Amino acid sequence: MTDGIVGEFLSLKEETDADLLAMQCGDFYEFFAEDAELVGRELDLKVSQKSSHGSSYPMAGVPLSELSPYLKALVEKGYRVAVADQYDTDGGGHAREITKVVTPGTFLGTHDADAQYLAAVVADRDGTASGDHDDGTDTAYGLAFADVTTGRFTATAVEDRDAARAELHRFAPAEVIPGPSVRTDEPMLSAIREETDATLSLPDAELFATGRARHAVREQFGASTPETVGLDAELAIRAAGAVVGYTEATGAGVTAAMTRLQAYESGDHVALDATTQRNLELTETMQGGREGSLFATLDHTVTTPGRRLLREWLTRPRRDRAEIDRRLDALEAFASAALARDRVRDVLGEAGDLERLGSRTANGSADARDLLSVRDTLAVPDRLLEAIDGTELEGSPIAETLHGLDLETVRGTREELASALAEDPPDSVRQGGLFQRGYDEELDEIIDRHEEVREWLDGLADRERERHGLSHVTVDRNKTDGYYIQVGKSVADQVPAHYREVKTLKNSKRFTTDELEEREREVLRLEEARGELEHELFCELRERVADRAELLQDVGRALARVDVLAALAEHAAVNGWTRPTVTDGDELSIEAGRHPVVEQSTEFVPNDLAMDDRRRFLLVTGPNMSGKSTFMRQAALIALLAQAGSFVPAREATVGVVDGIYTRVGALDELAEGRSTFMVEMQELSNILHSATEDSLVILDEVGRGTATYDGISIAWAATEYLHNEVGAKTLFATHYHELTTLAEHLPRVENVHVAAEERDGDVTFLRTIREGPTDRSYGIHVADLAGVPEPVVSRADEVLGRLREEKAIEARGSGGGDVEAGDGAGEGGGEPVQAVFDLSSGSFRSANGDAQRTDDSDAQRTDDSDAQRTDDSDAQRTDEVLEELKATDVNETPPVELMAKVQQWQERIVDREDGSGATAARGEEPGEAPER
Ligand code: ADP
Repeated sequence: MTDGIVGEFLSLKEETDADLLAMQCGDFYEFFAEDAELVGRELDLKVSQKSSHGSSYPMAGVPLSELSPYLKALVEKGYRVAVADQYDTDGGGHAREITKVVTPGTFLGTHDADAQYLAAVVADRDGTASGDHDDGTDTAYGLAFADVTTGRFTATAVEDRDAARAELHRFAPAEVIPGPSVRTDEPMLSAIREETDATLSLPDAELFATGRARHAVREQFGASTPETVGLDAELAIRAAGAVVGYTEATGAGVTAAMTRLQAYESGDHVALDATTQRNLELTETMQGGREGSLFATLDHTVTTPGRRLLREWLTRPRRDRAEIDRRLDALEAFASAALARDRVRDVLGEAGDLERLGSRTANGSADARDLLSVRDTLAVPDRLLEAIDGTELEGSPIAETLHGLDLETVRGTREELASALAEDPPDSVRQGGLFQRGYDEELDEIIDRHEEVREWLDGLADRERERHGLSHVTVDRNKTDGYYIQVGKSVADQVPAHYREVKTLKNSKRFTTDELEEREREVLRLEEARGELEHELFCELRERVADRAELLQDVGRALARVDVLAALAEHAAVNGWTRPTVTDGDELSIEAGRHPVVEQSTEFVPNDLAMDDRRRFLLVTGPNMSGKSTFMRQAALIALLAQAGSFVPAREATVGVVDGIYTRVGALDELAEGRSTFMVEMQELSNILHSATEDSLVILDEVGRGTATYDGISIAWAATEYLHNEVGAKTLFATHYHELTTLAEHLPRVENVHVAAEERDGDVTFLRTIREGPTDRSYGIHVADLAGVPEPVVSRADEVLGRLREEKAIEARGSGGGDVEAGDGAGEGGGEPVQAVFDLSSGSFRSANGDAQRTDDSDAQRTDDSDAQRTDDSDAQRTDEVLEELKATDVNETPPVELMAKVQQWQERIVDREDGSGATAARGEEPGEAPER
């Protein structure tokens, strides 16, 4: 038998592709061999040895009743666990078979607040289409996401790999099932790994076949579903069908909860690629923590469905003004009704997780306590209406949301449950004690009879004492002896003749009688009958409630919505946020805006932003650490919040609906992750230039920094032109290339702004205020001073910088038609987009078709000038070089030790500068400062 068990285990294990197998052996679920070792390690379970056929196998087991918590722990660690149950065979023996497979995406026992999505991804190449798109970037993908714990099920088709990644990142699935050709598509697979911590499972490729998938969707959601919900994309149907097929195959009864299929299109939501979701720290900070994310800052929800919905709103802002305005209207009502809002939040606090309860009801795993929680939560809509009755919220969109529910059925269901279930039911649904008296006649009879017998038993000790003059008599019951009369040893010889002895203990004896045995049989019979009948009645009741699973989900969603609106209103009220004006226009204007997260921990200096169809591209300059990124992210977050339907941290804001937000932030952030930074930077830039449209908002925080200056500046320059001329997206671009600020003179919709800093008594104070025009200097020399570079070098640097500026100013005047002084007004006034050209030989710009274009002659002239200067400057040549390096050194981003070494080296080079005659590099080779305004 023993060897048989291990053998049986191993052959069952062959049948499944699950990672682990838990096999029932009597009262335990056992893991054997490698599985036992793994489970022992992961869960700290004791591993013993089981001998079989002369060999010995590791074995670890858990009692039957305790499997759930172990499954939960294993599934949370990403394992898929098959469960084999034991059943009796006709011949009186046992056999076992796999009854279910529990996986991270299909586990029902989760208690986390977060959604638990199972995702399917299919690529166009799986079926009919072109096999040639080998790099996969142009391939369309179908995606489906199902949360079996709440019954949410949604599917879509997207254009390309980046869009697929963005969706995966948004839903953060627990498990992903890739279609057959996705499995061979290495970049997509690594993208999935990168975007999610999901377990990858590889089910039968057949599940993804069009015909089979369509059939599965129809079976699950009703014959006409794919078309009626607008799910016409074959790829989406294939993904949805695979999810249905996969969950069915796990056998865990999880499909019942999925009652409704929602199709969505990428056009419904603001495109937020994975990088942007990370950069804007929507749900996690760049360091990976939740604390400090936008979501954590705004999360004042009081229910778990509310939390899930808030996360959804923030990661999937809307593009249709109708829904945005609906949310804002409701929020406005809430924001100005503090007392009513408090009451609403109090009432909501008592709501259970109706989506999950509905799901458990539908798949038959809900117990009596779950149904009690359904009962109590179904009372919440009416209680909310009561709470807002006579307040400002009466007649508000909040009330509408609640009235939008089928309240009649809600009440009916609640009453049905209220009149059925006992207040304090046992844990097991097979034990009896679940129902109130009066619910079922037959049950009442059993209970009456049961109570009669119990009474008889309860009175037996007293009666026996009296009748037979026995002291020390008790009547009790245990598992082995059943009911018994226990008599103290001292009087044990006085018992009547019809007492039969059952057991002798140290101080007492146990007896039974014919009558007691008969009553005992009756009690057992009644208990069994009661347990069976109650279980039957309970299943019927549960099924009746399950028939209304959609209603439960509706109520759950409505309560979640009210919770989110109240939470956002709370945050808005406490932090002085205002309602944004959301338009279909082109404007993004913010008055006294703040960063929603930074303002929580800092005395924040509010600032303004004005962008519209004529002022679409802002170059943001300013010293390091002055607040450029904060300003830009704040703009993106305000647009995002507005489109999520939230108030915003600003005195006033007008947000023209954007179709996508794209960001790319400093290459240095990825250094820590050890990625090839420049490559990543360029990939991100490429994605933005491909994906953004004129309705998008683009945030560029340094571009081209990861390569040599000329390369970098040229790329930044060309990208700016492309975004301005071809894409037309609203763009905020922070750069340390001051040279770029001259772009405002050449491109009509480009403007300069800078973060103001003030220098007083040699100290730089960051004012954190945004002003028009480019910054006038980089403060690099000041930083050098702070770093302890010797005074002569610092003052020499100042001198040289002054001269460079003068020179540049002359140049720029030569090429810019005398417009330089009016930097922020230059180039305005519309007109055709102009290509400006960066002249590598001179390190400056000229206009390609402008009248003041510099000729080859003037270049030659300049070279002559440089030659002339070279003699003058020969002793300063090294100083210049050192200065260039100094300027290019980012103090905040260079490790102190390296910085010291550099400074030392600079000093050495300058100290013996008398030898510096051989240097020939023309100063013009390195770009200098921007012209001073
Ligand atoms: P930069 O991008 O120019 O290097 P950051 O945007 O990273 O600068 O900001 C530098 C620091 O200044 C951050 O710690 C940030 O919290 C703070 N900061 C930025 N803007 C403001 C502001 N408007 N008010 C107060 N503090 C700010």
